[in-house]
Amino acid sequence: MYKTLSGKEPSAGVLESSKRIVANMKRKPHLVIVLVGSDPASEVYVRKKIEKAQAVGIRASLEKLENEANESDVLKLVEKLNKDKDVDGFIVQSPLPPQIDQMKVTEAIDPKKDVDGWTSTNIGRMILGMSETFLPATPIGIMKMLEYYGVEIAGKNVVVVGRGNVVGKPLSYLMLAKDATVTICHSRTKNLKQHTQNADILIAAAGRARLITAEHVKEGAYVIDVGTSKLGDKIVGDVDFENVIKKAHCSPVPGGVGPMTVSMLISNVIEAAIRKGENR
Ligand code: NAP
Repeated sequence: MYKTLSGKEPSAGVLESSKRIVANMKRKPHLVIVLVGSDPASEVYVRKKIEKAQAVGIRASLEKLENEANESDVLKLVEKLNKDKDVDGFIVQSPLPPQIDQMKVTEAIDPKKDVDGWTSTNIGRMILGMSETFLPATPIGIMKMLEYYGVEIAGKNVVVVGRGNVVGKPLSYLMLAKDATVTICHSRTKNLKQHTQNADILIAAAGRARLITAEHVKEGAYVIDVGTSKLGDKIVGDVDFENVIKKAHCSPVPGGVGPMTVSMLISNVIEAAIRKGENR
């Protein structure tokens, strides 16, 4: 039978080793999360990040701004956090309210504290294969998850559905760095099925509920569902899990990529503190 690729076990492994590292640090790393507004899904994600960070011994705090905050309020806070020597890393939870330019805010973050790995400096370093970078949490979480399940990547056909800056684009480069043959699909791709049916590893990162059906999938493939959409009051992925699992290994939503994202963020915070070199 085909495997359900849960993110819970690999994520627990990453958290366990993070806990051991933090236990040996004199000064505990400090993560700050900026939340603008009160989007219910963002509030849940932020709470999870703070809980998990604290569980491994990291100091995690929340900076909350009102939904009406303007761009300069957010930029001022980013500048304050850039300068604060007691903050090792911080993230600005997305999505931001429409009056605030996400790209401008991301670019204002000091790359040394950019533990989401979203600044152009860190993305550029990742593409060039340089070591002093922070790899974006969701894509590197997917790579770790595949490693945990013993999935070979070199020489495989990897099809990534979605070319977003947060998942699709960076993940495609990480796959390329592991010697996969990568195809990137998007909303203008003609005959999506023709591409996805060729995938040994299929990554669905479009944010379109149940876009990927069993017909899109090759028998025995590995399917990673990154998408999260609201369907009624349920959070669903991009993949029709119930039917795809009869034909291929598949990660569920929730309980798949989500927990990996949180664990990899925590790894980046520890790495940021270690790079400051004043912890042991
Ligand atoms: P994004 O920036 O909105 O990108 C979505 C991509 O999907 C775009 O490239 C878009 O194509 C493509 N697309 C949309 N409809 C499509 C279709 N019918 N066929 C093929 N491609 C299609 O989103 P993102 O930030 O990368 O995130 C993607 C999904 O992952 C979202 O659902 C997000 O919530 C989820 N996510 C989950 C986690 C987690 O931890 N679980 C973390 C981050 C993101 P165009 O470029 O042509 O518009």
